[in-house]
Order: sequence, then C-alpha cells, then structure tokens
Amino acid sequence: MTPLRREIASCRLCAEHLPAGTRPIVQFSDTARLLIIGQAPGAKVHESGIPWDDASGDRLREWTGLDKAAMYDENRVALVPMGFCYPGKASGGDRPPRRECAPHWHDRVLATLPRERLTLLVGTYAQAHYLPAMRKLPMTERVRLWRECLPGAIPLPHPAWRSAIWMKQNPWFAEDILPELRRRVSVIIM
Ligand code: SF4
Repeated sequence: MTPLRREIASCRLCAEHLPAGTRPIVQFSDTARLLIIGQAPGAKVHESGIPWDDASGDRLREWTGLDKAAMYDENRVALVPMGFCYPGKASGGDRPPRRECAPHWHDRVLATLPRERLTLLVGTYAQAHYLPAMRKLPMTERVRLWRECLPGAIPLPHPAWRSAIWMKQNPWFAEDILPELRRRVSVIIM
C-alpha cells in the first residue's frame, strides 16, 4: 500500500458525521487513464468495500462497456468518489457526499494519475465541483453539452434507478452519447 493510500485508509476527518463509521473506498494507480468520479459509496458498497458493487454500478458498466475485470483493474481505472465514505441515509435516499472529502483528498489523488486521461463526471456533485462554468445548469443540460467537456471529461447522470426514467425522457443520451462513451472508454483503457 502506498503512503497516500495508507493515509486515506486512516482518515477520520469527518468521522463525527458518518453514522456508519469511516470506510474510505477508493481505487487508483499511477497508470489508470480512465478516472470515474462518482458520488459516495452506498450502504451495500460500505458493507462490501467494493466500489460500484450495486445496481448503479451495473448500470454504469452497461453505459461504459466496462466489465468488472476492467473496472476493478486499478492499473487501468481509477474510482474516486466525491466522498470516500458512506455518508448515511437521508429521507428519500442517501445523504450527499461529505463536503470535506474532495477538497481534502482529490488534488493529491489526481496528481498521482497520468496527465492524459479521460474523466467521467458521474452525477451532480462531481459536475458541480469539476465543471464550475456549468454549475448553474440543470444536470440534463450539462449532459447534453457533453461535447464541450471533451477531450478531458464527459458528464453523465448518476446511474441510480431514477436514471432509467430519465433515459426514457432523454433518448438522445442512449443514441448519441453512449456509443461515443463506449468508444472513448475502450480506447483509453487499452
Ligand atoms: S468521507 Fe473522506 S474526509 Fe470524511 S472520513 Fe471518509 S475519507 Fe475522510
């Protein structure tokens, strides 16, 4: 384990706000050219310790064309959520990622990755942080403007169950974006 990983594993910066306790779940290496920045682990991922080990992960793999072997290959794929620990339940879903986490850790983690990489900004929290010029737009508009974020990044909706309804309302996502997303992902992880 690298010193940075050891430091993250022992982080207790916002422990007092985490009802299930600290368990940072993050994957990265200095060769991972695909970076996926999601929201925060859910309860199932908190239990298993495996990122995207849930229905949202299945949908994200379907969108990207990644299989589990590729997604969990840290030499090719970095999985760095906006909050590394499960933030606990709120009414109607999980709490948002802890706001301390990304400002505290992301610069150091991203500095270890190759400079030439593709970043998937999955969900509103990642997009608000990394696409400040688009922060005020609704999520659907940010995704619709995905070409403006190329070549470095692609904004995606969070692949929670609600995204199935969203996809029906926005068929251009499956028609225009997913084929190009799969193509770019397959090239970057080669
Ligand atoms: S959520 Fe992030 S900042 Fe908070 S304890 Fe976990 S790793 Fe540390």
